[in-house]
Amino acid sequence: MSYDIAVIGGGVVGCAVVRDLSGFGLSVVLVESRGDIGDATSKANTAILHTGFDAVPGSLESTMVARGYELLSDYAKVTGIPVEHTGALLVAWDEDQRAVLPKLQDKAVKNGYQKCEIVDADEVYRRVPDLGPGALGGLTVPDESIICPWTTPLAYATEAKARGVEFRLNTFVESVDVGAESTTLRTSTGDITTRWVINAAGLGGDVIDRMLGYDRFTIVPRRGELFVFDKLTRPMANTIVLPVPTEKGKGVLISPTIFGNVMLGPTSENLVDRTDTSTSEEGFAFLLDKGAALMPTLIAEEVTASYAGLRASTEHSDFVVDIDSAQRYLLLGGIRSTGLTASMALAEHARHLLAESGVALVERADLPAPPQMPNIGEAFPRPYQRADLIEADSEYGQIVCFCERVTRGEIRDALTSPLPPCDVDGLRRRTRALMGRCQGFFCGAEIDELMRAGGGDHE
Ligand SMILES: Cc1cc2nc3c(=O)[nH]c(=O)nc-3n(C[C@H](O)[C@H](O)[C@H](O)COP(=O)(O)OP(=O)(O)OC[C@H]3O[C@@H](n4cnc5c(N)ncnc54)[C@H](O)[C@@H]3O)c2cc1C
Repeated sequence: MSYDIAVIGGGVVGCAVVRDLSGFGLSVVLVESRGDIGDATSKANTAILHTGFDAVPGSLESTMVARGYELLSDYAKVTGIPVEHTGALLVAWDEDQRAVLPKLQDKAVKNGYQKCEIVDADEVYRRVPDLGPGALGGLTVPDESIICPWTTPLAYATEAKARGVEFRLNTFVESVDVGAESTTLRTSTGDITTRWVINAAGLGGDVIDRMLGYDRFTIVPRRGELFVFDKLTRPMANTIVLPVPTEKGKGVLISPTIFGNVMLGPTSENLVDRTDTSTSEEGFAFLLDKGAALMPTLIAEEVTASYAGLRASTEHSDFVVDIDSAQRYLLLGGIRSTGLTASMALAEHARHLLAESGVALVERADLPAPPQMPNIGEAFPRPYQRADLIEADSEYGQIVCFCERVTRGEIRDALTSPLPPCDVDGLRRRTRALMGRCQGFFCGAEIDELMRAGGGDHE
């Protein structure tokens, strides 16, 4: 079979792209080297749905983040992706930082965001009483929100699959041969023939780009390490607390998570190894130090987990997006720190670029209804809390993971879903099982057994 479009990379960007394109009369394949979608950078970020108030005005990233915020907010309502509109408070800790606040407010306006307000120290402490001493003032960003980073790509992929997109998982693209009429992807599971290629390969984006004859950017994996604190800390951070950004990035923040925890991080460290998502002693020390100044009461509480993600940063300050009509090749590269938010806008932008290059986009009239995603957000009713569900199906009343209150019914649903997990990490992302205080000490064996019975691989 030959496809109209092959998308390389099943992260949040690639999944958004295949979902979007599957709305038209095109045959689409998603090629992903891992056994699951959303298993690379898209699974380990800070999960903020950004307004884009602090983007570089006029950049593609600024446009994509603002538009992506709008599109994803609407899509989340339709499909049940958990979102909480917590707002954010950017805090100045010295006079230099306080002097930057009006500039940041102007920048927000230039980015099309009008609602930032400068507040004094009293207001900062009224909003976040647990902040450490020394805050001099702040800037409010009322629409900054938190979102489920795992349900988002899964919703895109589930909808794309229902619309007929083919998912070639465990398939690594080794080389690319561009012909006059079609292109062949040489992969670890055989050749794939396609008319167009879209590169959404995240940390591997520059490698794929070179396979198509370019040499225009190099990915530097920039590691971000984070702590996740116990759920008892959640009242300490009901809004996102942001630092004043520097040239190195957005800095260390404190944020509530959609799962009811509080998170501290990320660090920012350039690495060489694109696979090194380990956490480090230096990272821990840095976060403990930062956290102690930002919110001493938080640092005194228990850490449930720590993790690290790798941003696909490049030598360019913006996303690297370009279309080559002659080779029928579209690049979505260097999607570093805001790709979750920007994902649907990038997909829309990709579609417009393809249309301008002559790809016929005929809207389909036979589209299935969008999927209703299982809720794994803490702020919304979960199955164990819903008498109606439990009455209809008693497995929603049988809790397997007690820390996160995940039921047998939810695990069964995940294992029999159109895109089932291939390992326990994938199950965690679909249900929250194993991500609580005990980290699977109590329920690990039972979950292993359920996975085996459900047909998934187990670790
Ligand atoms: C610490 C941190 C914090 C962040 N915080 C936020 C935030 O709060 N809000 C926000 O909006 N964004 C945030 N981001 C950014 C966001 O997570 C990324 O921009 C986004 O996940 C990038 O998605 P992607 O699809 O481009 O890449 P990925 O998720 O990395 O997907 C690319 C996929 O391509 C596959 N691939 C690569 N090479 C090949 C090949 N040769 N063959 C087949 N498959 C291949 C990989 O296996 C991978 O699955 C953060 C990132 C980090 C690291």
